[in-house]
This record gives sequence, C-alpha cells and structure tokens, in this order.
Amino acid sequence: MTDMMHIFEMLQPTSLDEAVALLDKHGKDGWVIAGGKDSLDWFKDRVKKPEYLIDISGVKELYGIQDKGDHIAIGPMVTLTDLSQNKLVRDLFPVLADAAGRVASPQIRNVGTIGGNICQDTRCAYYRDGFPCYRAGGNTCYANTPTAMNREHTLFEAKRCVAVTPSDTAPALSVLDAQMVIARDGKLRTVGVDDFFVGPEIDIERMTAVERDKGDLLVQIKIPKTWAGSRQYFEKVADRQVWDFALVNVAMAAKVGADGSIEAMQIACGAVQCTPRRLKDVESLVVGEKANADLEKLVERVAARGAKPLNYNQFKAPLMSQLAKRAVRSLSA
Ligand SMILES: Cc1cc2nc3c(=O)[nH]c(=O)nc-3n(C[C@H](O)[C@H](O)[C@H](O)COP(=O)(O)OP(=O)(O)OC[C@H]3O[C@@H](n4cnc5c(N)ncnc54)[C@H](O)[C@@H]3O)c2cc1C
Repeated sequence: MTDMMHIFEMLQPTSLDEAVALLDKHGKDGWVIAGGKDSLDWFKDRVKKPEYLIDISGVKELYGIQDKGDHIAIGPMVTLTDLSQNKLVRDLFPVLADAAGRVASPQIRNVGTIGGNICQDTRCAYYRDGFPCYRAGGNTCYANTPTAMNREHTLFEAKRCVAVTPSDTAPALSVLDAQMVIARDGKLRTVGVDDFFVGPEIDIERMTAVERDKGDLLVQIKIPKTWAGSRQYFEKVADRQVWDFALVNVAMAAKVGADGSIEAMQIACGAVQCTPRRLKDVESLVVGEKANADLEKLVERVAARGAKPLNYNQFKAPLMSQLAKRAVRSLSA
C-alpha cells in the first residue's frame, strides 16, 4: 500500500460523442472514471495503472432518470443516493431503490454511481492485492487453496476463479430484467442483464459485457415495466450494517393474485458466484402456491441446492437459504 497514485493524464469530455471518441482512441490504455470509488483503490494500490482516465462526470447525457412509457431509463452517472431516493424508482422498483440504499455508506453512495456499481471489479483480496492469479493473467487461484482465506468467495460456478460479484444492485437489476445500453465505435448495442454479467467461463479477466480494451461505455440502463408495482424485496447480510460488502444478498420481484397465490416470481442472490445467481428452482416451485410456513420450508431446502462451499465459507449456503425463505415470507404479510 503506497496510497500514492501513478502518473496519468485526466481527460474530461463534456459530451457523449467526445467521451466515446476518447475511449475509441485510447482503448486499453484508457479507463472510465465515474465516482471513482472502485477505481481509486486500484490506483492507490498501484495494481492497475492506466495511462488515460476518461472522467465522464461532465457528460450530461449520462445523467437522469426518465419515464419512457414502457420502461424507465437510468443514466449510469446517477448516484446511488439519488437512485435510492428517486420517487419513480421507489414507486415502481423498490427492490432497486433498497439495494442502492444498502451499498457501502452514505458518503460512498453520494459519490458512487449506478454505472460504477455494476461495472465494478470483484473484491477478492488476493486479486485486489495484485497476486498473479488467473483473473490477473496468471496460472493459479490463490483463494482456492487448502489454507486460503475464502470466507467471502463463491458457492457456485467456480471455474478456475472463485471470486464473486460484489454489486448490491446487480441482483435487483437481474430480477427486473434490466437491459444495458453500451456504446462502442459510435454504435450502440443493448445487452440483457443475463448476458451483461459475465462469469469466468466466458472471460476470466472481466465481470461484465463492458470490454474496457475495446473502448466500451455504458450509456443507459433500461428497466421494462414488466415488474413495476409487483411485490419486491431486498435484503443484505454483511459483517457490518454499513460500509461493507454483502456476504449474501437477495432480491425478489413477485406477482401475487387477489387470492394470495404467487403467479410469477424472479429471485436472485448476489455474492454467491461471479454473476448474480437466479434461484430458478425456487422460482418454479412457488408458482401457484400461497406463501406460508410449508412453502418457506421447501424454499429453504432448494435455494442453495448444488452449492459447493470452499474451506471457510460453508456458512453462506444456509445464509442464502434463509434469505430466500425470508423473501418468500414477505409475500405472506
Ligand atoms: C469502502 C467501500 C465499500 C463499498 N461497499 C460496497 C457495497 O457494500 N456494495 C456495493 O455494491 N459496492 C460497494 N463498494 C463498491 C463501489 O465503489 C461502489 O458500489 C460504487 O457504486 C462504485 O461506483 P463509482 O461510480 O464510484 O465507480 P468507479 O470507480 O468510477 O467505476 C467503477 C468501475 O466501473 C467502470 N465504469 C464506471 N462507469 C462506467 C460506464 N458508464 N461505462 C463503462 N465503465 C464504467 C470504471 O471504469 C471502473 O472500472 C464499496 C467501495 C468502497 C471503497
């Protein structure tokens, strides 16, 4: 730890076109900086040393939350505080507002953006400390050895790397079927949330569809109104109530009929694998049922089925089951 950043050139575009052009020009030597709450750690630790920082805080097209009729459009520069307090988001998608409101601490939420929150890198301590692991281009996983500290790591889908998604908003966006609009070379492409978050089997060196070395810029998050007004739930368990990453979190959206039976549900957990994990077994078993103690027991049994804990994170499987159960319990109220 030197707390002394490397020398870089800071570029401050004031329009989207300018930002995209700068990213195209600088490619793998460039680094988008939004609120900087993830990026500055990398630079202060001198593990990542990009030559050019493209500060997108002056790009007005990247701000704002707008009602577009069949969806809402969220700019990636919207801060987590604004997202958690926005009336439209609170009314339609409380699961997202609650998730944003549980990130880190008030100070970090005032500066950290939704774009940065979903594009942030994993918090595996070995990788963040600069160990030459698979994710860093090396040939081993330091977190998956008999003596490694892997309390925060994965339960599922360990493919060479056992790091997990750290984003609290990612599971909420997953259950809301969000779509991400990404700019590259002056063109836009839209990526569904299931393809946006990327596991090590697709690319071990990134966590999302945003490819930094190709100059990608996330320009918008769209949330269709399919789940607007549904019953929603978010809960996060961490070692501390604030200023801490999730050990496990859960996000849920459910449509409940007038007689109390569940018509449809989407539920996902974060911090249990490299991408948000949709609990498909839970989703299918609850349809047509009413939330009650019997259903909770079933949910508890299947939620973490297939988990393969590491040496120090066995506690995560029952924690995940309990969170899924509590999400379903919220529907009985
Ligand atoms: C002490 C501490 C505690 C934290 N706790 C939590 C927590 O509890 N939960 C949680 O979810 N997170 C947590 N974080 C992580 C994270 O810093 C914040 O969630 C924050 O939202 C990051 O946003 P930012 O705008 O500051 O990101 P930045 O650092 O600016 O960006 C993060 C990454 O995203 C990329 N990026 C940003 N915007 C774009 C864009 N529009 N297009 C392409 N790439 C982009 C950047 O290049 C960078 O790689 C914590 C961070 C710290 C330092």
